[in-house]
Amino acid sequence: KDVREQFVEGKFLGSGTYATVYAGHFRADPTKLVAIKKMRILTDYKDGITMDSYREMKFLQELTLHPNIVRLHAVFTSKDQNLNLVLEHLPKGDLEKLWRDSSISYTREDIKAWSAMICQAVWFCHENYVLHRDIKSNNVLIAADNTLRLADFGLARSFSEPGRPMTCNVITRFYRPPELLLGATHYGGCVDVWSTACVMAELAARAFFLVSETDIQHLSVIAELFGIPTEADWPGVSKLRHWEVAFGSAPPKRPQPLSHWRQRLPLMGDDGIDLLRAMMTMNPSKRLTARDVLKHPYWTNLPRPTKKENLPHGG
Ligand code: ADP
Repeated sequence: KDVREQFVEGKFLGSGTYATVYAGHFRADPTKLVAIKKMRILTDYKDGITMDSYREMKFLQELTLHPNIVRLHAVFTSKDQNLNLVLEHLPKGDLEKLWRDSSISYTREDIKAWSAMICQAVWFCHENYVLHRDIKSNNVLIAADNTLRLADFGLARSFSEPGRPMTCNVITRFYRPPELLLGATHYGGCVDVWSTACVMAELAARAFFLVSETDIQHLSVIAELFGIPTEADWPGVSKLRHWEVAFGSAPPKRPQPLSHWRQRLPLMGDDGIDLLRAMMTMNPSKRLTARDVLKHPYWTNLPRPTKKENLPHGG
């Protein structure tokens, strides 16, 4: 039977950079809600938008069975040149909306529960050789049962074989790691680990963690916190494309002490801060991998993460 016929399309939900999203439900079961994400496909396969839609479909198909990744029910094309992704309906908004909502209060236990779900999603992507490349709190959606789901795979791609360059123009600036800001074109899962740490810190601070107006300024914001990287701790860093503009004439800078982190992130605890700093190691080859992140004592130390039925949420 025609897959298009299995769903009934309803009202407009929202639009993003390259898609329009409608509510809908299964024809056979009107209580089973979906979101239909419509993306334009053009006949020119090199078109950026078309590639984004294609990637989102392809990677979601591979990853959708994980509990912390958005569920893809079906894919179909329609005669109006749209690729339609039928996603589960996620009615409770995203993590950015959640921390911005001052009527919602939450605890360090809640932060640990949310962080664990995000880190497991990222680990699963990397185990399957997929880089997400756009991890941010706005792309982490909340399901009806309060489980978090990583969404928006439009910028995802497979790990490349070593030697093959990739674009450094990915990841929203506030979440972008130093190697991409410096122009690296060879990178791996470590870019997502940095972004994930930004999301966790953001939950704890209830504000964007690293804020800037330009890419170069973002590097100095990072350097304010971690110091300026040196050839000693990051061999090759001064050979990266934007090194001279960013740090060429800057005097050395010391990283901020633990007391600074404690003051900014009172809801993380010292073990949480230790984890975040390891996830935000400037040198990507010394940064924790997603697999190592899950082995950190933060997860098993007290306090225990909140059970999902008790997590606060909006909408
Ligand atoms: P963006 O480009 O803003 O990241 P999308 O193109 O993925 O977002 O989606 C646009 C809007 O549609 C979102 O801001 C959200 O309000 C809504 N939306 C997207 N996916 C879902 C979903 N699975 N369930 C409910 N609403 C959704």
